[in-house]
Amino acid sequence: MIVSPKIRGFICTTSHPDGCAANVQEQINFVKAQPKIENGPKNVLVIGASAGYGLASRIVPAFGSGANTLGIFFEKPGSEKRPGSAGWYNTAAFEKAATADGLVAKSLNGDAFSHELKQQALDIIKNEMGGKVDLVVYSLASPRRTDPDTGEVFKSVLKTTGGDYTNKTLNTDKGEITEVTIGAASQEEIDDTVKVMGGADWELWINALADAGALADGIKTVAYSYIGPELTWPIYTDGTIGMAKKDCERACSAINAKLAETLGGAAYVSVNKALVTQASSAIPVVPLYISILYKEMKAKGIHEGCIEQIQRLMADRLYSEDLQLDDTGRIRVDDWEMRDDIQASIAESWQNISNDNFNQLADFEGYQADFLKLFGFGLDGVDYAADTDPTTAPASLS
Ligand code: NAD
Repeated sequence: MIVSPKIRGFICTTSHPDGCAANVQEQINFVKAQPKIENGPKNVLVIGASAGYGLASRIVPAFGSGANTLGIFFEKPGSEKRPGSAGWYNTAAFEKAATADGLVAKSLNGDAFSHELKQQALDIIKNEMGGKVDLVVYSLASPRRTDPDTGEVFKSVLKTTGGDYTNKTLNTDKGEITEVTIGAASQEEIDDTVKVMGGADWELWINALADAGALADGIKTVAYSYIGPELTWPIYTDGTIGMAKKDCERACSAINAKLAETLGGAAYVSVNKALVTQASSAIPVVPLYISILYKEMKAKGIHEGCIEQIQRLMADRLYSEDLQLDDTGRIRVDDWEMRDDIQASIAESWQNISNDNFNQLADFEGYQADFLKLFGFGLDGVDYAADTDPTTAPASLS
């Protein structure tokens, strides 16, 4: 099958198996070119492992410290007629490379919020990974969650928690700046977003693993968050998603207390950089901010993608002597994004940006290239005119 991009708003409905493999291989090559992570993890569970930050969180321990990995995700397999989702092909490529290096690489495709999937994960850890994991990364980004006990479905919304908020935004289809007004969420919408993207499911995972004796002494667990500059606070940090992230910090304290007492372990929230992923491209205002951010960070030679961020998180923070925690105990690998000089330039560009100077002040080309790359398009060395096999699948799920 010849596969080309079909973009609808912030979604691309097709993915290229060979392009996704090339994208994963680029990330593996990056990690292999870095020094090994001293005392890094050896048995890792990544929840949300097929794309974005979670995929990078699987690649770094596997190729940076020789870790066996179990990856959990929700992806669509391809068929003879239709390509599957990018995460499916990313995982196929990851598993192939990891097993070629003699590593255990198992995957589960299903609903991470369910009790059934947690039980399946416990079985794999027990039977195929030596019984215990020493790192659990929680990197889910989901628009909905079915409560595993009641069956009730909760949907997350991206709204403010104050009044209406109007700001510049980017129509990524047209490359045009427009204005968007985002309404305020009701209390029910805030509560529902916290149920979906808050810390409750992270706690359920850790409790299930702890109860089954599947956590190693000194276990570390980390979940990802975002803060960003004040200009995005109404829609992010002070918005419904920000309330969910605050709940992750609540969960982090509870998990940390439990792990410290029982296993000498620790839980962290890591605040990461804004990057183009399937999750972030759906948030209004953020793609314009990211396009300006890319411009500034590339100009100063400090731009990073997911793989560079997670390499730094693991090598220079989680598995180093000094985690450089902020005053509320969070890991900050958004430190370069939040540098005063970077944020001062962005604030000025934000003030002045219009459709007339868009390409001077923002790196929309970089944004678009990263967006297409998420789906395996635009990778060097891939022949997009050639047939590719849409039935490519992760070996552990074939
Ligand atoms: P992503 O969309 O690239 O990946 C989401 C992952 O979750 C995928 O592996 C997907 O298959 C999985 N998933 C979704 N629903 C699932 C379900 N029900 N069951 C099992 N798996 C499911 O997202 P991302 O941007 O990498 O986000 C990961 C985390 O990082 C989120 O907590 C996000 O808030 C945080 N974060 C993102 C950014 C950013 O700019 N992208 C910045 C800082 C923090």
